[in-house]
Amino acid sequence: MKTDAILIKNFTLQQLEDWVESVGERRFRARQLYRHLYVRRIRSWDECSDLSKSFQAQLEFGTVLDALSLEEKRTSSDGTVKYLFGLSDGRRIESVLIPDPPRYTLCLSSQVGCALSCRFCLTGTVGFQRNLSAAEIVDQVCRVQQEAGNRFRISNLVFMGMGEPLANYEAVSNAVHILCDPNGMAFSHRRITVSTAGLVPQMERLGRDSPVNLAVSLHAPEDGLRSELMPVNRTYSLGDLLNACRRYPLAPRKRITFEYLLLDGVNDQPRHAKALVKLLHGVKAKVNLIPFNSYPGSEFRRPSEERILAFQEILTGAQLTALVRQSRGFEIGAACGQLAALGKDDPSSRGETEAGHGFFSLPG
Ligand code: SAH
Repeated sequence: MKTDAILIKNFTLQQLEDWVESVGERRFRARQLYRHLYVRRIRSWDECSDLSKSFQAQLEFGTVLDALSLEEKRTSSDGTVKYLFGLSDGRRIESVLIPDPPRYTLCLSSQVGCALSCRFCLTGTVGFQRNLSAAEIVDQVCRVQQEAGNRFRISNLVFMGMGEPLANYEAVSNAVHILCDPNGMAFSHRRITVSTAGLVPQMERLGRDSPVNLAVSLHAPEDGLRSELMPVNRTYSLGDLLNACRRYPLAPRKRITFEYLLLDGVNDQPRHAKALVKLLHGVKAKVNLIPFNSYPGSEFRRPSEERILAFQEILTGAQLTALVRQSRGFEIGAACGQLAALGKDDPSSRGETEAGHGFFSLPG
Protein backbone atom coordinates (compact mmCIF):
# COMPACT_ATOMS: atom_id res chain seq x y z
CA MET A 1 0.00 0.00 0.00
CA LYS A 2 1.23 3.51 -0.82
CA THR A 3 2.59 5.33 2.20
CA ASP A 4 1.62 8.97 2.80
CA ALA A 5 -1.16 8.50 0.27
CA ILE A 6 -4.56 9.93 1.08
CA LEU A 7 -7.31 7.54 2.14
CA ILE A 8 -9.97 9.00 -0.09
CA LYS A 9 -12.90 7.41 1.74
CA ASN A 10 -11.99 9.47 4.82
CA PHE A 11 -13.42 12.58 3.16
CA THR A 12 -16.91 13.90 3.69
CA LEU A 13 -18.17 15.53 0.51
CA GLN A 14 -17.18 18.96 1.74
CA GLN A 15 -13.69 17.79 2.68
CA LEU A 16 -13.36 16.16 -0.72
CA GLU A 17 -14.43 19.39 -2.45
CA ASP A 18 -11.70 21.22 -0.54
CA TRP A 19 -9.14 18.60 -1.49
CA VAL A 20 -10.16 18.54 -5.15
CA GLU A 21 -9.80 22.31 -5.23
CA SER A 22 -6.41 22.13 -3.54
CA VAL A 23 -5.09 19.95 -6.38
CA GLY A 24 -6.34 22.39 -9.02
CA GLU A 25 -9.64 20.80 -10.03
CA ARG A 26 -13.12 22.32 -9.85
CA ARG A 27 -15.20 21.61 -6.72
CA PHE A 28 -17.99 19.82 -8.61
CA ARG A 29 -15.53 17.03 -9.40
CA ALA A 30 -15.99 15.84 -5.81
CA ARG A 31 -19.57 14.83 -6.55
CA GLN A 32 -18.37 12.85 -9.55
CA LEU A 33 -15.79 11.10 -7.40
CA TYR A 34 -18.49 10.26 -4.83
CA ARG A 35 -20.57 8.67 -7.57
CA HIS A 36 -17.62 6.63 -8.81
CA LEU A 37 -16.66 5.55 -5.31
CA TYR A 38 -20.03 4.83 -3.75
CA VAL A 39 -22.55 4.31 -6.53
CA ARG A 40 -20.47 2.72 -9.30
CA ARG A 41 -18.04 1.19 -6.81
CA ILE A 42 -15.09 1.45 -9.19
CA ARG A 43 -12.03 -0.74 -8.63
CA SER A 44 -9.62 1.62 -10.38
CA TRP A 45 -9.57 5.26 -11.46
CA ASP A 46 -9.06 4.41 -15.10
CA GLU A 47 -12.72 3.32 -15.12
CA CYS A 48 -13.65 7.00 -14.85
CA SER A 49 -13.66 8.35 -18.38
CA ASP A 50 -15.29 11.62 -17.31
CA LEU A 51 -12.06 12.61 -15.50
CA SER A 52 -9.00 13.94 -17.31
CA LYS A 53 -6.08 11.55 -17.69
CA SER A 54 -3.92 13.76 -15.50
CA PHE A 55 -6.53 13.83 -12.70
CA GLN A 56 -6.90 10.05 -12.98
CA ALA A 57 -3.14 9.70 -12.58
CA GLN A 58 -3.16 12.02 -9.60
CA LEU A 59 -5.88 9.93 -7.97
CA GLU A 60 -4.12 6.70 -8.87
CA PHE A 61 -0.78 7.68 -7.35
CA GLY A 62 -1.82 10.12 -4.65
CA THR A 63 -4.75 8.34 -3.02
CA VAL A 64 -5.72 4.93 -1.68
CA LEU A 65 -9.03 3.47 -2.80
CA ASP A 66 -9.38 0.57 -0.35
CA ALA A 67 -8.88 0.94 3.37
CA LEU A 68 -9.47 -2.77 3.99
CA SER A 69 -8.49 -6.10 2.52
CA LEU A 70 -10.85 -9.04 2.83
CA GLU A 71 -8.98 -11.86 4.55
CA GLU A 72 -11.69 -14.34 5.36
CA LYS A 73 -15.40 -14.81 4.99
CA ARG A 74 -17.44 -17.35 6.95
CA THR A 75 -21.07 -18.18 6.48
CA SER A 76 -23.21 -19.56 9.28
CA SER A 77 -25.98 -22.11 8.71
CA ASP A 78 -28.52 -19.37 9.51
CA GLY A 79 -27.16 -17.22 6.65
CA THR A 80 -25.17 -14.79 8.79
CA VAL A 81 -21.82 -13.91 7.21
CA LYS A 82 -18.76 -12.81 9.12
CA TYR A 83 -16.10 -10.83 7.25
CA LEU A 84 -12.58 -10.61 8.59
CA PHE A 85 -10.82 -7.52 7.24
CA GLY A 86 -7.14 -6.66 7.40
CA LEU A 87 -6.11 -3.03 7.97
CA SER A 88 -3.03 -1.40 6.46
CA ASP A 89 -1.10 -1.79 9.74
CA GLY A 90 -1.79 -5.54 9.87
CA ARG A 91 -4.51 -5.29 12.52
CA ARG A 92 -7.86 -6.92 11.91
CA ILE A 93 -11.53 -6.23 12.41
CA GLU A 94 -14.80 -7.99 11.74
CA SER A 95 -18.14 -7.04 10.23
CA VAL A 96 -21.25 -9.19 10.29
CA LEU A 97 -23.96 -9.34 7.65
CA ILE A 98 -27.37 -10.42 8.91
CA PRO A 99 -29.70 -11.22 6.00
CA ASP A 100 -33.39 -11.10 6.76
CA PRO A 101 -34.89 -10.29 3.35
CA PRO A 102 -35.85 -7.70 2.37
CA ARG A 103 -33.72 -6.36 5.19
CA TYR A 104 -29.95 -6.79 5.02
CA THR A 105 -28.29 -5.45 8.13
CA LEU A 106 -24.56 -4.91 8.35
CA CYS A 107 -23.04 -4.79 11.81
CA LEU A 108 -20.02 -2.46 11.76
CA SER A 109 -16.90 -2.25 13.90
CA SER A 110 -15.72 1.16 15.07
CA GLN A 111 -12.48 0.29 16.89
CA VAL A 112 -9.87 -2.44 16.96
CA GLY A 113 -10.59 -3.96 20.35
CA CYS A 114 -12.32 -1.90 23.02
CA ALA A 115 -11.25 -0.05 26.15
CA LEU A 116 -14.43 -0.44 28.18
CA SER A 117 -13.71 -3.93 29.59
CA CYS A 118 -17.32 -5.04 30.02
CA ARG A 119 -16.95 -8.33 31.88
CA PHE A 120 -19.11 -10.41 29.56
CA CYS A 121 -17.72 -9.23 26.21
CA LEU A 122 -15.03 -11.06 24.25
CA THR A 123 -13.99 -7.94 22.34
CA GLY A 124 -13.13 -6.35 25.69
CA THR A 125 -10.62 -9.10 26.46
CA VAL A 126 -8.58 -8.05 23.42
CA GLY A 127 -8.13 -4.62 25.02
CA PHE A 128 -8.06 -1.38 23.10
CA GLN A 129 -5.72 -1.24 20.12
CA ARG A 130 -6.81 1.74 18.08
CA ASN A 131 -9.67 3.73 16.62
CA LEU A 132 -10.80 3.03 13.08
CA SER A 133 -10.69 5.88 10.58
CA ALA A 134 -13.86 7.01 8.82
CA ALA A 135 -12.53 5.31 5.67
CA GLU A 136 -12.11 2.00 7.50
CA ILE A 137 -15.71 2.25 8.72
CA VAL A 138 -17.17 3.29 5.36
CA ASP A 139 -15.16 0.65 3.53
CA GLN A 140 -16.79 -2.14 5.56
CA VAL A 141 -20.03 -1.17 3.83
CA CYS A 142 -18.40 -0.73 0.40
CA ARG A 143 -16.58 -4.06 0.48
CA VAL A 144 -19.57 -6.10 1.62
CA GLN A 145 -21.82 -4.39 -0.94
CA GLN A 146 -19.19 -5.01 -3.61
CA GLU A 147 -19.15 -8.71 -2.72
CA ALA A 148 -22.94 -8.82 -2.89
CA GLY A 149 -23.05 -7.24 -6.32
CA ASN A 150 -26.64 -7.01 -7.42
CA ARG A 151 -27.85 -9.92 -5.29
CA PHE A 152 -29.03 -7.57 -2.55
CA ARG A 153 -28.56 -4.08 -1.20
CA ILE A 154 -27.45 -3.48 2.38
CA SER A 155 -30.46 -1.73 3.91
CA ASN A 156 -29.55 -1.15 7.55
CA LEU A 157 -26.38 -0.36 9.44
CA VAL A 158 -25.77 -0.96 13.11
CA PHE A 159 -22.67 0.11 15.02
CA MET A 160 -22.73 -3.01 17.17
CA GLY A 161 -19.51 -4.72 16.12
CA MET A 162 -16.12 -4.35 17.78
CA GLY A 163 -15.53 -1.23 19.82
CA GLU A 164 -17.44 1.60 21.46
CA PRO A 165 -18.55 3.89 18.61
CA LEU A 166 -18.99 6.95 20.79
CA ALA A 167 -15.40 6.62 22.03
CA ASN A 168 -14.38 7.19 18.39
CA TYR A 169 -16.77 10.06 17.87
CA GLU A 170 -15.15 12.02 15.02
CA ALA A 171 -14.59 9.06 12.74
CA VAL A 172 -18.01 7.54 13.42
CA SER A 173 -19.78 10.83 12.85
CA ASN A 174 -17.83 11.48 9.61
CA ALA A 175 -18.58 7.95 8.45
CA VAL A 176 -22.30 8.52 9.06
CA HIS A 177 -22.08 11.74 7.02
CA ILE A 178 -20.39 9.93 4.15
CA LEU A 179 -22.78 6.96 4.23
CA CYS A 180 -25.83 9.26 4.22
CA ASP A 181 -24.61 11.64 1.52
CA PRO A 182 -27.23 11.78 -1.26
CA ASN A 183 -24.41 11.86 -3.86
CA GLY A 184 -23.07 8.56 -2.59
CA MET A 185 -24.67 5.59 -0.84
CA ALA A 186 -27.51 7.77 0.40
CA PHE A 187 -28.42 5.80 3.52
CA SER A 188 -31.22 7.32 5.51
CA HIS A 189 -30.28 8.22 9.10
CA ARG A 190 -33.34 6.25 10.17
CA ARG A 191 -31.65 3.08 8.95
CA ILE A 192 -28.53 3.59 11.01
CA THR A 193 -28.27 2.67 14.69
CA VAL A 194 -25.40 3.63 16.97
CA SER A 195 -25.10 1.46 20.06
CA THR A 196 -23.33 2.75 23.16
CA ALA A 197 -22.38 1.39 26.56
CA GLY A 198 -23.38 4.83 27.87
CA LEU A 199 -20.88 7.62 27.14
CA VAL A 200 -23.18 10.41 28.24
CA PRO A 201 -21.45 13.53 26.83
CA GLN A 202 -21.05 11.95 23.40
CA MET A 203 -24.69 10.81 23.45
CA GLU A 204 -25.69 14.43 23.84
CA ARG A 205 -23.37 15.47 21.02
CA LEU A 206 -24.72 12.75 18.73
CA GLY A 207 -28.26 13.92 19.36
CA ARG A 208 -27.26 17.41 18.20
CA ASP A 209 -25.11 16.28 15.21
CA SER A 210 -26.90 13.47 13.43
CA PRO A 211 -30.37 12.04 13.87
CA VAL A 212 -29.46 8.33 13.91
CA ASN A 213 -31.21 5.76 16.06
CA LEU A 214 -29.73 5.19 19.47
CA ALA A 215 -29.29 1.87 21.26
CA VAL A 216 -28.05 1.77 24.84
CA SER A 217 -26.44 -1.30 26.38
CA LEU A 218 -28.05 -1.34 29.81
CA HIS A 219 -27.63 -4.90 31.13
CA ALA A 220 -28.47 -4.07 34.77
CA PRO A 221 -31.20 -1.99 36.42
CA GLU A 222 -29.15 -0.72 39.38
CA ASP A 223 -25.79 0.98 39.77
CA GLY A 224 -24.01 -1.59 41.97
CA LEU A 225 -24.56 -4.49 39.63
CA ARG A 226 -24.06 -2.40 36.48
CA SER A 227 -20.72 -1.06 37.74
CA GLU A 228 -19.59 -4.62 38.37
CA LEU A 229 -20.53 -5.72 34.86
CA MET A 230 -19.65 -2.50 33.04
CA PRO A 231 -16.90 -0.36 34.59
CA VAL A 232 -18.08 2.62 32.48
CA ASN A 233 -20.98 2.89 34.92
CA ARG A 234 -18.56 4.22 37.54
CA THR A 235 -18.07 7.28 35.34
CA TYR A 236 -21.63 7.70 34.04
CA SER A 237 -24.18 6.31 36.47
CA LEU A 238 -27.63 5.04 35.53
CA GLY A 239 -29.19 8.32 36.67
CA ASP A 240 -27.00 10.35 34.30
CA LEU A 241 -27.52 7.84 31.52
CA LEU A 242 -31.30 7.81 31.78
CA ASN A 243 -31.41 11.60 31.94
CA ALA A 244 -29.38 11.76 28.73
CA CYS A 245 -31.83 9.29 27.16
CA ARG A 246 -34.79 11.44 28.21
CA ARG A 247 -33.15 14.45 26.57
CA TYR A 248 -32.16 12.63 23.35
CA PRO A 249 -34.00 14.31 20.44
CA LEU A 250 -36.10 11.49 19.01
CA ALA A 251 -38.06 11.71 15.79
CA PRO A 252 -41.82 11.32 16.24
CA ARG A 253 -42.81 7.74 17.07
CA LYS A 254 -39.13 6.78 17.55
CA ARG A 255 -37.86 5.09 20.69
CA ILE A 256 -34.49 4.33 22.18
CA THR A 257 -33.54 0.66 22.13
CA PHE A 258 -32.24 -0.67 25.43
CA GLU A 259 -30.17 -3.81 25.11
CA TYR A 260 -30.41 -6.04 28.16
CA LEU A 261 -28.07 -8.99 28.23
CA LEU A 262 -29.49 -11.90 30.25
CA LEU A 263 -26.86 -13.58 32.42
CA ASP A 264 -27.87 -16.69 34.32
CA GLY A 265 -28.30 -15.98 38.04
CA VAL A 266 -26.78 -12.50 37.73
CA ASN A 267 -29.34 -10.05 36.32
CA ASP A 268 -32.20 -12.31 35.23
CA GLN A 269 -34.38 -12.51 38.35
CA PRO A 270 -37.96 -11.16 38.53
CA ARG A 271 -36.74 -8.37 40.81
CA HIS A 272 -34.36 -7.20 38.12
CA ALA A 273 -37.19 -7.13 35.60
CA LYS A 274 -39.34 -5.10 38.00
CA ALA A 275 -36.50 -2.68 38.66
CA LEU A 276 -36.01 -2.32 34.91
CA VAL A 277 -39.69 -1.42 34.45
CA LYS A 278 -39.31 1.26 37.11
CA LEU A 279 -36.05 2.59 35.67
CA LEU A 280 -37.52 3.01 32.17
CA HIS A 281 -40.74 4.60 33.38
CA GLY A 282 -41.43 7.70 31.27
CA VAL A 283 -38.64 6.93 28.78
CA LYS A 284 -39.56 6.28 25.14
CA ALA A 285 -38.05 2.84 25.21
CA LYS A 286 -38.12 -0.60 23.74
CA VAL A 287 -36.10 -3.41 25.25
CA ASN A 288 -34.11 -6.05 23.40
CA LEU A 289 -33.38 -9.00 25.65
CA ILE A 290 -30.19 -10.74 24.51
CA PRO A 291 -29.53 -14.14 26.08
CA PHE A 292 -25.79 -14.35 26.77
CA ASN A 293 -23.70 -15.84 23.97
CA SER A 294 -21.02 -17.94 25.54
CA TYR A 295 -17.45 -18.39 24.36
CA PRO A 296 -14.68 -20.57 25.75
CA GLY A 297 -13.46 -19.16 29.04
CA SER A 298 -16.48 -16.95 29.69
CA GLU A 299 -17.55 -16.81 33.32
CA PHE A 300 -21.26 -16.35 32.53
CA ARG A 301 -24.03 -18.56 31.23
CA ARG A 302 -27.24 -18.11 29.33
CA PRO A 303 -30.38 -18.42 31.48
CA SER A 304 -32.97 -21.14 30.88
CA GLU A 305 -35.72 -20.53 28.38
CA GLU A 306 -38.31 -20.32 31.17
CA ARG A 307 -36.31 -17.68 32.97
CA ILE A 308 -35.95 -15.63 29.78
CA LEU A 309 -39.66 -15.78 29.03
CA ALA A 310 -40.58 -14.98 32.63
CA PHE A 311 -38.34 -11.92 32.48
CA GLN A 312 -39.90 -10.83 29.20
CA GLU A 313 -43.42 -11.30 30.60
CA ILE A 314 -42.80 -8.94 33.50
CA LEU A 315 -41.74 -6.24 31.06
CA THR A 316 -44.56 -6.74 28.57
CA GLY A 317 -47.03 -7.02 31.47
CA ALA A 318 -46.00 -3.47 32.40
CA GLN A 319 -46.66 -2.27 28.81
CA LEU A 320 -42.96 -2.16 27.98
CA THR A 321 -42.10 -3.46 24.48
CA ALA A 322 -39.61 -6.25 25.01
CA LEU A 323 -38.33 -8.66 22.37
CA VAL A 324 -36.08 -11.62 22.91
CA ARG A 325 -33.38 -11.13 20.33
CA GLN A 326 -32.29 -14.08 18.36
CA SER A 327 -28.51 -13.77 18.20
CA ARG A 328 -27.42 -15.06 14.86
CA GLY A 329 -24.14 -16.40 13.60
CA PHE A 330 -23.32 -18.08 16.91
CA GLU A 331 -21.43 -21.06 15.48
CA ILE A 332 -19.08 -18.84 13.48
CA GLY A 333 -18.43 -16.52 16.42
CA ALA A 334 -20.39 -13.71 14.83
CA ALA A 335 -23.04 -13.21 17.53
CA CYS A 336 -23.21 -10.22 19.89
CA GLY A 337 -20.11 -9.97 22.04
CA GLN A 338 -18.22 -12.71 20.19
CA LEU A 339 -16.13 -10.57 17.85
CA ALA A 340 -12.39 -10.67 18.46
CA ALA A 341 -11.02 -10.73 14.89
CA LEU A 342 -8.79 -13.71 15.46
CA GLY A 343 -9.52 -15.41 12.16
CA LYS A 344 -9.29 -19.17 11.84
CA ASP A 345 -7.79 -19.51 15.32
CA ASP A 346 -10.75 -17.74 16.85
CA PRO A 347 -11.77 -19.92 19.81
CA SER A 348 -15.29 -18.60 19.51
CA SER A 349 -15.53 -19.93 15.96
CA ARG A 350 -15.02 -23.61 16.59
CA GLY A 351 -18.61 -24.43 16.02
CA GLU A 352 -19.80 -25.20 19.54
CA THR A 353 -23.52 -25.12 19.86
CA GLU A 354 -25.43 -24.54 22.98
CA ALA A 355 -28.78 -25.85 24.11
CA GLY A 356 -31.45 -23.30 23.42
CA HIS A 357 -29.42 -21.32 20.95
CA GLY A 358 -31.32 -20.17 17.94
CA PHE A 359 -34.58 -21.20 19.54
CA PHE A 360 -36.08 -17.77 19.68
CA SER A 361 -37.20 -15.99 16.62
CA LEU A 362 -37.66 -12.26 16.35
CA PRO A 363 -41.24 -11.56 17.39
CA GLY A 364 -43.06 -8.97 15.33
N1 SAH B 1 -19.81 -0.82 22.67
C1 SAH B 1 -21.14 -0.66 22.12
C2 SAH B 1 -21.32 -1.40 20.82
C3 SAH B 1 -21.25 -2.91 20.92
S1 SAH B 1 -22.83 -3.54 20.65
C4 SAH B 1 -22.15 -1.08 23.15
O1 SAH B 1 -21.77 -1.57 24.21
O2 SAH B 1 -23.34 -0.86 22.95
C5 SAH B 1 -22.69 -5.21 21.10
C6 SAH B 1 -23.76 -5.61 22.07
O3 SAH B 1 -23.56 -6.99 22.44
C7 SAH B 1 -23.69 -4.80 23.35
O4 SAH B 1 -24.98 -4.58 23.85
C8 SAH B 1 -22.93 -5.76 24.25
O5 SAH B 1 -23.10 -5.45 25.59
C9 SAH B 1 -23.52 -7.08 23.85
N2 SAH B 1 -22.70 -8.23 24.24
C10 SAH B 1 -21.41 -8.22 24.61
N3 SAH B 1 -21.00 -9.47 24.90
C11 SAH B 1 -22.07 -10.28 24.71
C12 SAH B 1 -22.26 -11.68 24.82
N4 SAH B 1 -21.26 -12.49 25.17
N5 SAH B 1 -23.48 -12.17 24.53
C13 SAH B 1 -24.48 -11.34 24.11
N6 SAH B 1 -24.34 -10.02 23.98
C14 SAH B 1 -23.14 -9.49 24.28
